[in-house]
Amino acid sequence: MSQSSFITRLAALSVVLTSCTTLPLPFQGKASTHDALGHRPGPSGFKVVMIDAGHGGKDSGAMSRFTAQKEKDLTLDTAKRIRQQLEPDFKVILMRSNDTFIDLDERVARANRSGAAVLVSVHYNSGPSNCCGPETYYWRVDSHGLATRLQQAMSRACPTGNSCRGLVRRRVRLTRNPAIPCVLVEGGYLSHASESRRVSDPNYRQKLATAIASAIRTQSAIGDAGTGPLPRPINAPPSRPTDPRQ
Ligand SMILES: [Zn+2]
Repeated sequence: MSQSSFITRLAALSVVLTSCTTLPLPFQGKASTHDALGHRPGPSGFKVVMIDAGHGGKDSGAMSRFTAQKEKDLTLDTAKRIRQQLEPDFKVILMRSNDTFIDLDERVARANRSGAAVLVSVHYNSGPSNCCGPETYYWRVDSHGLATRLQQAMSRACPTGNSCRGLVRRRVRLTRNPAIPCVLVEGGYLSHASESRRVSDPNYRQKLATAIASAIRTQSAIGDAGTGPLPRPINAPPSRPTDPRQ
């Protein structure tokens, strides 16, 4: 091939490559891509739920300097309370039922194998000392309704309501990578003096667990009804440990 025809072909190839990478992925296109990314309304009529107690084992998560409690213990306690609230109407699968470490990618794999319709990951927060109140993180379109319900229910249970961030769309491994609708809840700030003391009270954790369970029940009963318009679909790659926090 002559040098000029080689350059012409190279130029043609680069046009193809550039146009491929800049083409938006079709939202109406392949059903499989579409579903894998969660670009669909939220689920209803489901009976199997997976509850993930955040952290565990060597990963303690946040620690309260006011009560010395560790996030990993509080999340496990709360996950068990949620299960108790949902059974026997729902089959509840716990990601962990004791103090063991499970890698985040392994949590994603277990959620995908579980047969659960939704995954709710339970955490407690840490941040600036004036920050308090529950927060809820979601990414997928099919997780918006449940996330909205979870945030509303936890805010009602919390005396300070929705004081800091509230409902947040953020791509992290447990909101983007599972193949099922998935939501991450932060029950309150262990870095906030009075909220940390509140969270240390089993009665308050029971209140939060009841709120979370009722949000799941409502989602199963009526789907996304009343949770507002669906957010726009976003074709983002799976979240990796090296990603910057968004
Ligand atoms: Zn956490």
